[in-house]
Amino acid sequence: MTSDSLPPHTPSSSNDYLDLGDTGHGYIGRFAPSPTGELHRGSLLTAVASYLDARQQQGQWLVRMEDLDPPREQPGAADSILRSLEAHQLYWDGEVMLQSQRLEAYQQALEQLEQQGLTYPCNCTRQRLKSLPQTPAYDGHCRRHPPHKPPYAIRVEVPDGQAGLMSFEDGFQGWQEEQLSDSVGDFVILRKDGLFAYQLAVVVDDIAQGITHILRGSDLLDSSGRQLYLFKQLGQTPPQMAHLPVIVNSDGQKLSKQTFAEPLDSRHAPDNLFLALQQLGQNPPAELRGDCAELLEWSIPRWDRNQVPKGMAIQQEASNPQQPLS
Ligand code: GLU
Ligand code: ZN
Repeated sequence: MTSDSLPPHTPSSSNDYLDLGDTGHGYIGRFAPSPTGELHRGSLLTAVASYLDARQQQGQWLVRMEDLDPPREQPGAADSILRSLEAHQLYWDGEVMLQSQRLEAYQQALEQLEQQGLTYPCNCTRQRLKSLPQTPAYDGHCRRHPPHKPPYAIRVEVPDGQAGLMSFEDGFQGWQEEQLSDSVGDFVILRKDGLFAYQLAVVVDDIAQGITHILRGSDLLDSSGRQLYLFKQLGQTPPQMAHLPVIVNSDGQKLSKQTFAEPLDSRHAPDNLFLALQQLGQNPPAELRGDCAELLEWSIPRWDRNQVPKGMAIQQEASNPQQPLS
């Protein structure tokens, strides 16, 4: 039985997402939206691709709401994203994990890194960070002169040389190498405002949910090195990573709330899904255009990563809903 047939909101224990029985053949994927706005064409693309990749492998597909940064969130967006996924028949397994409920786990990971002697407080101001010479990497100022009283951020130290060289084969973007000490330097895992940083939370949650495959937008490719480093320091094997090209507008900007991406209209769910499949290079037959369930059923066995357009970006023009779709 595929878990598609399960209702998405089965009430169950709070760690339901850790125990999903014997389905999945070991593949656990996820879609991890931030509730900063409604689902738009860009986020639908990531949802569909991660869904198909997981379902083709008879894997689980989890949804995690990354509601870790209240000032950036929009009231009602989390719920609206979930309703929109349902309207497109993208049903997830188990309960939705909420990052806002996970602070203890992040704190534990922080303490583990602290005990490993890898962290230090930093009270550098934005202004100081801006004034650093050309290099994008933090200069380690507070590693040498740690502040004594809050408020401060917590940084994790990254080593020079081989130990700080993160490399992996990306599922879409090929071989990646990043020397962390050059690209970012010691990076923030707890912000000065007391919020846990995305980099820490995402790794702690990917570990807790047993994620084996990450499929997400190429805008997060440059976070992967930091995340691989945290997996390593927390003693865990990282998931396989694959960064899809993201949809960009004619100015080359990623579709997002900031670039005024239109929310998807659920009344046109089959059209939206059809278009997303086309953008992913999957050529769904026009006859199936009217029905999300049929489109997905057709796509799951045929999903082919190799047909996804190469590169980091897909031009929005190709996706203009006013254009004929064939
Ligand atoms: N919450 C992140 C976003 O919406 C995605 C995190 C991830 O997939 O690792 O951009
Ligand atoms: Zn500092």
